Amino acid sequence: MNSTEHDPNCIFCKIVAKQIPSRPVHEDAQVYAFHDINPWAPVHFLLIPKAHIPSLAQVTDAHAPLMAHMMALIPRLALQEGCNPYPQGGYRVVTNTGSEGGQEVHHLHFHIMGGSRPWLRG
Ligand code: 5GP
Ligand code: ZN
Repeated sequence: MNSTEHDPNCIFCKIVAKQIPSRPVHEDAQVYAFHDINPWAPVHFLLIPKAHIPSLAQVTDAHAPLMAHMMALIPRLALQEGCNPYPQGGYRVVTNTGSEGGQEVHHLHFHIMGGSRPWLRG
């Protein structure tokens, strides 16, 4: 299965369901964005679909409207959270996919990292 609405064993599904607390950045019907618990940069938040999609590897054409929504949100939320404007500022968008891609939480997420250098990592 490519996606389910909710996986009871998934930490990010629990965050969406507010069973685990998080610091919100944005919420709408399709997505949730929240601050990473272990930030690498002055700004570091995660953008996730509310539906449980395990990773980018499961994304298909059927997800195109959702993916477009997420991509269009990133620049707006990045500025809202304090990233400096492009081109002198900017931000990094990372999606680790699978074990060899360094993915630890298997619910699709985009890391958005930015702010003045130096960063802790990355
Ligand atoms: P991955 O390695 O899967 O790309 O990234 C998972 C990210 O989720 C890590 O940056 C980690 O700090 C973050 N994370 C893991 N558990 C929690 C949590 O319970 N709350 C929040 N806010 N972030 C989490
Ligand atoms: Zn999930």
